[in-house]
Amino acid sequence: SAKAAGRNRVHVFSPDLRDAAERRASLAAELRDALVRDELVLHYQPVVHLPTGRCTGMEALVRWQHPEHGLLQPGEFLPTAHAHDLMTPLARWVMTEATRQIAEWARIGIALVVAINISAEQFSSGTLVEDVFAALTTAGVPPELLVVELTETSVAEDPELAAEQMAELRRRGVEVSIDDFGSGFSSLAQLVSLPAGVLKIDRSLVNFTEGNRDRAAAAIAAVVALGQACGIRSLAEGVESAGQLALARELGCIFAQGFHIARPMPADDVPGWVLAHRDALAPAPPGEFAHF
Ligand code: C2E
Ligand code: MG
Ligand code: MG
Ligand code: MG
Repeated sequence: SAKAAGRNRVHVFSPDLRDAAERRASLAAELRDALVRDELVLHYQPVVHLPTGRCTGMEALVRWQHPEHGLLQPGEFLPTAHAHDLMTPLARWVMTEATRQIAEWARIGIALVVAINISAEQFSSGTLVEDVFAALTTAGVPPELLVVELTETSVAEDPELAAEQMAELRRRGVEVSIDDFGSGFSSLAQLVSLPAGVLKIDRSLVNFTEGNRDRAAAAIAAVVALGQACGIRSLAEGVESAGQLALARELGCIFAQGFHIARPMPADDVPGWVLAHRDALAPAPPGEFAHF
């Protein structure tokens, strides 16, 4: 057994490390059950269209309502899902749930474009497009109401296969966006070769401090210009202040998202939030002083 093997390897694994490995293994078993017991939930973070100030969409972010540990954030269980081949069933659950939710909101007159996050496993599975359209068809949702978000790491394994699937999604009406652009290893070459429609500028650029505002502004402006040259609209992620929101708007970002606008919220809170914020984020009328 793993325990016996652990006893014979005291020099390799400290008790702490062995405990951590066992905890991960048991978490993986619980996660497998959670997927069928419906313990996962999606929270939604508003996406605002800056030219009008309207909330046009939401990003779906997965959480796990764990029976003992409470509400777990993705950082606490996605690594386990990755390590135990659970990303594909998780992605299928997310697609099914998100499209069901889009249809439910549409029925009460709230048309929202919902973005879901996709990981490397989905691109290499080769069934991403099929899975997405199966979910849309089952829920009776038009493809224009779904966005697929991917990161560069999720396409790194086979960029050509990823690009093909992205093109196919967009041809059939599903928007594709590149997440966390400007962080980590984002390369300009990928921007040129990947057929995306939206570029999400990472919060490490958007979330400037007063001391580096000018440099951050220059970096954001460069990304926006690059996007425009490629026909890609920019979204500022991680907007945490009125000044950051104003700057994103001024620099030509089309969309914004962040704690300053709203934190991710349970689905039940979404209709109320959308109604309450109808015109709250509209641009200031010309001549009005902009608050930085
Ligand atoms: P992401 O897709 O880049 O999502 C944005 C993350 O930043 C979310 O964290 C969100 O709560 C957080 N955030 C939003 N606005 C702000 C802000 O103004 N300031 C700060 N400090 N943070 C902000 P969350 O929900 O913990 O998700 C973390 C990551 O987990 C996501 O990053 C995404 O990569 C991954 N993830 C979440 N849900 C899913 C999912 O359903 N499937 C997959 N494959 N990955 C997911
Ligand atoms: Mg995302
Ligand atoms: Mg992001
Ligand atoms: Mg991220």
